[in-house]
Amino acid sequence: MTILAFNQDFGAAVAAGAFENELALHKTLLESTRAIPWKIDWATMRFAYIGPQIEDLLGWDQGSWLTVEDWASRIHEDERERVVNFCVAQSQAGVDHEADYRALTKDGGHVWIRDVVHVVRKPDGEVDSLVGFMFDISERKKAEEELVRLQKELEALSLTDGLTGIANRRHFDQRLEAEWHAARRNGQPLSLILLDIDFFKQFNDRYGHVGGDACLVAVARALQGVARRAGDLVARFGGEEFVALLPGADAVGGRMLADASAAAIAALRIPHEASSVSDYLTASIGVGTVTANGASEPRAFIDAVDRLLYAAKQNGRNRIESLAR
Ligand code: GH3
Ligand code: MG
Ligand code: MG
Repeated sequence: MTILAFNQDFGAAVAAGAFENELALHKTLLESTRAIPWKIDWATMRFAYIGPQIEDLLGWDQGSWLTVEDWASRIHEDERERVVNFCVAQSQAGVDHEADYRALTKDGGHVWIRDVVHVVRKPDGEVDSLVGFMFDISERKKAEEELVRLQKELEALSLTDGLTGIANRRHFDQRLEAEWHAARRNGQPLSLILLDIDFFKQFNDRYGHVGGDACLVAVARALQGVARRAGDLVARFGGEEFVALLPGADAVGGRMLADASAAAIAALRIPHEASSVSDYLTASIGVGTVTANGASEPRAFIDAVDRLLYAAKQNGRNRIESLAR
């Protein structure tokens, strides 16, 4: 062997060794990362590779991932069709993409996965293969779901009166706006009851603020027992004022519910020694109704009913004033 030939062989051997070392390094890197690498041959739609980590994550062993059908069958059925269609379409178009889905585990559970896919093309532009990484995003999903739950809880809290647990003024305003427009569209009447407890300041003075609070809770519950049709909303309008929004109720229906509200409060038989109109707790009530072609806007409607309530106070309290508009 000439020195030259020796050097060439030696060089090739060193190069091959380096190449193998590099391969080993890539393999170690791929198989030690928490993301799970995979490769699908486009022509056969078979897995050319999937990282062994898949078994730890989902329970299905590495050798059981043979075809794209194996992959599709291990996606939660709720999103299977959507995810498969999306990934196939993107791959056919040669577009890199990612998809979040629940991968089924062998023990019957699921893990949220983000699959990030790169489309490898041949020199002529044809799709050669898909390579990608599956990331376990369960923790992130859990955090997202918790956030959504907290947002809903916060939303509910922001619409609820802290003392009585019924709808608050904000909730009422939102619903009035919506029901107002719905009533116009449907040509349906809309009734509104405004109710204010009589001599409540004296009630507090006589029975204490805690007694007053308990009284408000009882009144709120009683009113909810009266306006109980789907769509009815009883809310705390402020201090010791309550409001009932009654979609679909005409003037007769509104008046009936106002009567029933007064009766429900009387039935509580809450002693009120400081009242000059009764021995028991009473309220003054205004009730009004709009029809589709009636008053022009919600604010004016509330003001009109508020004037009726004021009239009930002026006319002696413990009474109802009503007017159809
Ligand atoms: P009127 O018959 O004219 O309605 O007299 P009133 O005393 O009921 O009316 P006023 O508006 O002067 O007083 C309302 C009282 O309601 C005063 C306030 O201290 C009391 N109040 C408002 N919010 C609450 C509450 O959350 N708890 C208690 N205990 N009292 C409240
Ligand atoms: Mg008041
Ligand atoms: Mg009052």
